[in-house]
Amino acid sequence: MSQDRLSHFHGGLVLRHHKKMSCEHSLANAGIPEKLIIAIKANRGHASEPTVEIGDVVLKGQVIAQPTHPLGTVYHAPTSGQIIAIETNDTASPDAEPATCIIVKTDGKDEWPPRPDPPKLPETAQQIITQISAAGIIGMGGAGFPTHVKYNTAQTDKTITLIINGAECEPYISCDERLMLDQPAAIVKGTVWLLKAAQASKAIIAIEDNIGGVKKRLDAEIKQQGLLAQGYELTVVKVPTIYPTGGEKQLIKVLTGLEVPSGLTPLSLGLIMQNVATAKAVYDAIELDEPLMKRVVTVTGDAINAPRNYEAMIGTPFEHLLNLADCDFVALDKLIIGGPMMGYAMPHEHIGIEKTTNCLLALPSDCTKPEIKAMPCIRCGDCVKVCPQELLPQQLLWYINGSDQHNDLEKAREHHVFDCIECGACSWVCPSHINLVDFYRFAKSELTYLDHKKDKAQQAKLRHDEREARLKRIKAERQAKRRRKTSKLTDKKGAKAEISAVLARIKEQEKAKVDE
Ligand code: SF4
Ligand code: SF4
Repeated sequence: MSQDRLSHFHGGLVLRHHKKMSCEHSLANAGIPEKLIIAIKANRGHASEPTVEIGDVVLKGQVIAQPTHPLGTVYHAPTSGQIIAIETNDTASPDAEPATCIIVKTDGKDEWPPRPDPPKLPETAQQIITQISAAGIIGMGGAGFPTHVKYNTAQTDKTITLIINGAECEPYISCDERLMLDQPAAIVKGTVWLLKAAQASKAIIAIEDNIGGVKKRLDAEIKQQGLLAQGYELTVVKVPTIYPTGGEKQLIKVLTGLEVPSGLTPLSLGLIMQNVATAKAVYDAIELDEPLMKRVVTVTGDAINAPRNYEAMIGTPFEHLLNLADCDFVALDKLIIGGPMMGYAMPHEHIGIEKTTNCLLALPSDCTKPEIKAMPCIRCGDCVKVCPQELLPQQLLWYINGSDQHNDLEKAREHHVFDCIECGACSWVCPSHINLVDFYRFAKSELTYLDHKKDKAQQAKLRHDEREARLKRIKAERQAKRRRKTSKLTDKKGAKAEISAVLARIKEQEKAKVDE
C-alpha cells in the first residue's frame, strides 16, 4: 500500500509530541519490585476469580486468577514469591476504580516451574487461539479486549486483513515506538502467528510518519524472515501524524477508506486490528512459552529527571517506576495514567500497572492547567470541526447537561454517545473550557447502569411471571386432581349402591327359593 492511497478521517488535531525525551534511550528492565499489586480485572471491569489463597507460594507463570466472564482474562504470577493479601485496592482505571488485587511478596529468585524446552509450537489456527487465550493476552493499546475473541473469523465470509497498530498518537507516550525499535523481530514473528490464527496472509503494520528508523527496522526484519517467499504480504505503512490516528476507526479509515458502521466491529469489514505490543505478547506466549506477565511502560513528564521506557512486570507499583526514572516527588503535582488527552489522574503512587498501562505521566504544577471555570457553550461549533467520530459534541452536551431527565440521556444515546472514543479533542479546543469528555463518560456509564437496571427489572419481571404461571399451573393441577378424586368417590358410591342392589336381588331370589 502506498502513501498516496491513504484516506483522511474527519477532524483531529495536530499536537506537540513530547516523545523524544523518553524514546531516545533503549528499553530498560524495571527489575523485580519488592511486591506486586495485580488488579485482576480487565479494562472494561470484567473481574476474574483468584485461584490462590493468602500464604500460597507461587512460581513464575503460575495461574493466579481465572476469568468468570467471556470478556475477562486469566492472570499469572509475573515472578516467584508468596501471596500476602487478596484485597480491594485502587487500580489504574478512570477514578482509580477499586477492584480486587492479588498482592505478591516477591522472593527475588524469579523461579519458573519445570517447562518443556523448547516449547511445543501450535499447529492449527484453533491451537494458536487457545494458546493466546491461556496466556491471558488482551489488547495492550488501551482497550483491553481479549485478543482471542477477535479471531472468531467464522463471523465473516470476507478475506481477513490484519492491521498492526503502531500509530501511537498521544503526546508523551513512546512505549510502542521504542518496542518497534528494539524488538522488531518479535513483533514481526508475533504478526505471523496472528495471521496464522486468522488464516490470513495479508498484514499492514501502521506507524506514524514522524518516527525515524522504525520503518527501516521492520522492513529489514520482514525481509530477513523471508516472509514474502512463504506467501505472506506484510507491509509497513506510514500514516499522517494527526491525533487520534491511532484510534481503531480512524486508522481503518486512513488505511482502507472504509468506515466501521456504528455498533459493528472491524471484522464486519474483514479487518482485525491489534496493537504492536499485543503482537509481541503473542510471540512471547507461543515461541517462548511466556504468558502475558510484563509490558513496556513510558515513564515521562516534566517531574521526571530521567524519562525512559521500562519493561515492567504487571503489578509493578507506580512508585517503583517513578523512583527508577528519578521522579521529583516534591515537584510532582499530577500523576496521569496514559497521555494528556485520554489519560486519567491517579490519587497516589501505590497502585500497580496493568496489562493496558502504557504510560505514567508525572507533571509538576507549572505544567498542569490551572482549573479554569467552565463558561456556557457559545455554540461556536469548534468541537464539531475536530471530532474524529463525526459526532455533535455540543448537542450531546445539551442532552446530557440540559436536564436530569432520563429521556435526555436517551437522546444522547440516539445521537451516538457510545461512538465517542473519549479522545478529548473537543474539550481541547472548546473556548468555554468545558470538559466535554467528562459529560460523555458520565452519560455512557449512566446509560450502561440504566440498561443493567432495566435488564435486571426485566429478569425480575420474567421470574415473577414464571412464578405466577407455575403457581397457576399447580393450582389447576390440584383442582383437576381433586375433581378426579371426587368423581372416583362418586363412582365408588355408585358402584357400592349397584353391588348392594345386586346382593339384595340375590338375597330376595334365595329367599323366594326357600319359601317354595
Ligand atoms: S467548542 Fe465549546 S463552546 Fe464551542 S460549540 Fe463546542 S461546546 Fe460549545
Ligand atoms: S471526545 Fe468524543 S465527542 Fe469529543 S471529539 Fe472525541 S470522539 Fe468526538
